[in-house]
Parts: sequence; structure tokens; C-alpha cells
Amino acid sequence: MLSGVAGFASFFFSLLAFLYITDLDGQIVASIVAGMFCLMVAYIASERPNGQSARALTALGDRLLAVEQGDFTSPTPRIVRDSLPKLAAAVDGLFAEVRSSIENAHALGMYDPVTSLPNRLHFRSEADKMIGTAPEGVMSAMLFVDLDRFKSVNDSLGHARGDQLLIMVANRLRVVVTAEICDTSDRRPLLARLAGDEFTILIPRISSAADAERVARRIALAIGEPFELHGHSIDIGASVGVAINPDHGNSIETLMRAADIAMYRAKEAGGSQYCLFSAALAAEHQVKVDTEIALREAVQRGEFVLALQPQLSLVTGEITGAEALLRWNHPREGLRQPNSFIPIAESTGIIAEIGEWVIVEAATMLADWQRDGVARRLAFNVSPRQLDRADFFPMLRAAFAARNVPLSLIELEFTESAAMECSEAVLKEIAALRDDGATIAIDDFGTGYSNIARLRAMPLDRVKLDPSLIADIHESEQARVVVQAVIQLVKGVGAEIVAEAVEHVAQADILRAMGCDTVQGFIFAHPMYEDDYLAWVRNAEAGDRSFA
Ligand code: C2E
Ligand code: MG
Ligand code: MG
Repeated sequence: MLSGVAGFASFFFSLLAFLYITDLDGQIVASIVAGMFCLMVAYIASERPNGQSARALTALGDRLLAVEQGDFTSPTPRIVRDSLPKLAAAVDGLFAEVRSSIENAHALGMYDPVTSLPNRLHFRSEADKMIGTAPEGVMSAMLFVDLDRFKSVNDSLGHARGDQLLIMVANRLRVVVTAEICDTSDRRPLLARLAGDEFTILIPRISSAADAERVARRIALAIGEPFELHGHSIDIGASVGVAINPDHGNSIETLMRAADIAMYRAKEAGGSQYCLFSAALAAEHQVKVDTEIALREAVQRGEFVLALQPQLSLVTGEITGAEALLRWNHPREGLRQPNSFIPIAESTGIIAEIGEWVIVEAATMLADWQRDGVARRLAFNVSPRQLDRADFFPMLRAAFAARNVPLSLIELEFTESAAMECSEAVLKEIAALRDDGATIAIDDFGTGYSNIARLRAMPLDRVKLDPSLIADIHESEQARVVVQAVIQLVKGVGAEIVAEAVEHVAQADILRAMGCDTVQGFIFAHPMYEDDYLAWVRNAEAGDRSFA
């Protein structure tokens, strides 16, 4: 009996929250709520529970709680209809009312059919009114909520399950917002689903930014808890951006933009957290936007150039190849190193176009060298974002095939995280490239998270140690022990070792003694443009230099 009543009460209050936030027809809400309340009180007061009615109440509780899954259509269970017919009729009537209210609202094109929350259009017009009519000096807050891993749920469990998850997320948001914001008409928040996995909340009256931050923190915590969906425990998390009116804007556009920027920052910081917009964030964002535009133009204007850094065998001293490193000849700022623009290119996605330019440039160089009788391997870096593009592998193969360059002349460097996280389909493509002669390397190994089983299964030829591992091997016994262990591990999976950023003879000597195969570093050569590189190679091979 008690659990039945508890279930009933819990449904009752979440329904209240639902109606309160979605703000369906006020009169219907009032009559439904009053009717249900009377029914519940009258029932509990007049009925003495027996076994049958207790079971019926439990069944009713389960039926009511199915609302959390979006079920407004199933009929009341038979046991309820048989033993508590009045209650069953009242509940069926209630559902019919709710359904028709929702349908009316949808018919007006104002509500999202999945979650029954206001949609983007409704949100914009309502929020605009709320901001426009707020009394002078009143602060309000705009919150942007974006789920962190929704896409993978949609991809793995299908869209129907994805929709159910969105309903559950919307319900949690309703509960948090209702619990956190007091129940007065001028504080009534507006919660909406903008699109996909994006939700937004306007809180029309806050006393300080801390008020909004508290709600944002609670939302990140609530959505961070796993969701139980048909036997799956699903961990999605949410990133929340917060903007304050008037500090960060006083129109719906400026506030939404500010909250969006703050949300992206929360996501970049790992997700499952909130971020408050600030002037510093705005400035950083501007740099990012400007750089993105300049990068787009740079691709078209041909402002990129590849510098080549030789790699040498520690055993024979021979030049085994080179790594192509990107440089940007910025029209005003001069030469820019990749660390100043690659992260922005990756976060904006423009790395895909830049990466394509690198591949075509590498193919062109190798074709030129072939014509001059030089067959030397060239390695280039591949960003994880490039692998997101379905046409990456066909584009790469076409670039080399069109210039008659065999894949045995190229080496692809993937970051450790890309190697560990890429899909089976991508792994197959990498394996196919390797079967056709390409060399596969993992770059900057030792700073990410490696799964040893994955490392063993990976189509792999070489592992490049992260510079931080070897920086002080000539000075620190502990560093030597760690590097020796890593070398052993990499050799164990059958790959060669490349050490980069080698700056001291002592480092090279230790690495050679430890069984490292290849080195790349300022001690032997800095990255050079093509002509200098070719001249350097000619000199080295003419015996002017000795490295072994
Ligand atoms: P990386 O792929 O690990 O490249 C090695 C970096 O170490 C290069 O920096 C190189 O100049 C630097 N280096 C080489 N020898 C030494 C040394 O002895 N001491 C020190 N301190 N540094 C040394 P760079 O050219 O600034 O490139 C930085 C990173 O930018 C690269 O690290 C790579 O992750 C990324 N990058 C460069 N070109 C591309 C590209 O075409 N595409 C992508 N996606 N990333 C690139
Ligand atoms: Mg590299
Ligand atoms: Mg590296």
C-alpha cells in the first residue's frame, strides 16, 4: 500500500513539475491537479486496503511511473479497472486530457513532439518576451545544456531508444529546475529542447550569478548519473553553459551565443560540468573565430608549407626518411608553428581540409623525388578529426595513385588516442593501407591511455616515444628505467622504436644502448624546407656527416 501511494505521489509531483514547466492550458492543469488530489485523498481516507487493492495500487503506480518513459497511451491495467473502477476511470480520463493538451500544443507547432518541451521557435519568442518585459535591474540567466555522449547512444541503440533517453533527460531537467527555482510566477523558468541533444533554460529572475551556477551544477550532476534504459546503464553526461543578463548580453541572441560559447568550454574541459561565460572566454572565442577564418583562407591562398625533419637509424647512421611538419606563412604574423593553430583547426574541423592539403603536398613531393631517382620515405601526421571523414582513405589512396607514388614510400602517424579510439572500420582501412605497403606509426606514445591488447591487435610498424619520456634520460635514473620498460613493451608488440626531440649526444647514446632503432631531433637536424632537406641528404650521403 505504502509503495503504491509513494508511487502515486511521486507521479503526481512529477506531473505537476511537467505541467508547471510546459505550461499547458492553465484551466485544464488546475482541474486535473485538483481532481487528482481529491481522488487520492478520498481514496486513501475511505478505503481499507486489502490484498487485491494493494496489488491494484502497485499496478497503478507502475502504470503512472511509465509516464517517465513517455507512455501516455497504454490503458490502466486490468486489475485496477476491476478492483478500483472509479480510480481507473479517473486516471484514464486524466491521460486523455493530457494527451489532448499535448496534441493541441503540438498542433500549434510550439512543442517538441519527443519530449513535449517547448521547441526552439516557442523558446525564442517566449524568452524574448520574458527578457523584454523584465523590470529594470532584474537579472536573468540563460543556460545551455548539451549532452556529451548522446550520439554514441543513438548510433549503438537506435533512434527509438535515443528518443526515450531524451524523454528521460527532459524529465530530469524538469525535476531539477522545479526543485531549484522557487515557485513564484515571476520566477517560472522556461525549459526547451532546441534541437538534437541541446536543451536550454531561461531563468527569469536571479539574485546573483551564483543562483544560476547552482542550477547548472545540479543539472550537470543529475545528467551525470547513469540512465537505466531497457537493461542498459547509460552514461551520457551533460555540458552546461551559463550566461547572465545583463552582464553577458541583454538580448536573446547575445545570451544564447554567450551560453553556447560557455557550454563549449565546459565540453572542452572534459564535459559533465558547467562553465560561466566571461570576458576572457569571449576574447578567446574571438581569436578562435578569427583563426578559423584565416585558416580557411590560408588553404585557398596556399599559405601552408611542409618542413621536413630527417630520421636516422641509431644502428647504421643511415637516413631512413623524414617527417613532414606543417608551417603556416601567415601574411601578417609571419611563420606560425603548428602548435599555435593545429588545436584550433582540430576543434573547428578545418583540419580535414588542411590535412588533405598535407597529403596532396606529400604526394607531389614524393612524385618529384621519384622522377629525380630519390626513393625516400616520408611520414606525415594524421589528426583524429580527419578520420571522421568517410572519404579520408579513398582520398588518400587517390592522391598517391594519381601521382604513381607507391604506398611503401609513406608513413602515417596517428596519435595514441586516435589509435586507441578509432572504430573497427577505420582499423580495417589502416590494415589495408599497411598491406599495400604503407608504414603505420603511433606518435607521442606514453602520454595518453594505451590499451595493451589494442596495441597488440593494431596494424603497427613504429612507435614514436613522447619527448617528455626522454627529456631527462641523460640525467635521471628513474627516467631511464621508465624508457627502458616502454621500449621493452613496444618491442614486445613487435614494433620499432623512434625517439623524437633528441637534443643531446648523451640521450642518443643511452637510447642506442637501450635498443631504440631510430632518432629524430635537433641534435641531428632541424626541420628544413624541401630544397634544404634534399641538399642535406645529399651531403650526408656523400659522407660529409657521420652520425652512427
Ligand atoms: P610531432 O608530430 O610529434 O612532431 C614533432 C615535433 O617535435 C615537431 O614540432 C618538431 O619540430 C619537434 N622537434 C623535433 N626535434 C626536436 C628537438 O630536438 N627538440 C624539440 N624541443 N623539439 C623537436 P612542430 O613542427 O612544432 O610540430 C608540433 C606538432 O604539431 C607535431 O608534433 C604534430 O603533432 C603537429 N603537426 C605538425 N604538422 C602536422 C600536420 O601536418 N598535421 C597534423 N594533424 N598535425 C601536425
Ligand atoms: Mg608526428
Ligand atoms: Mg611526436
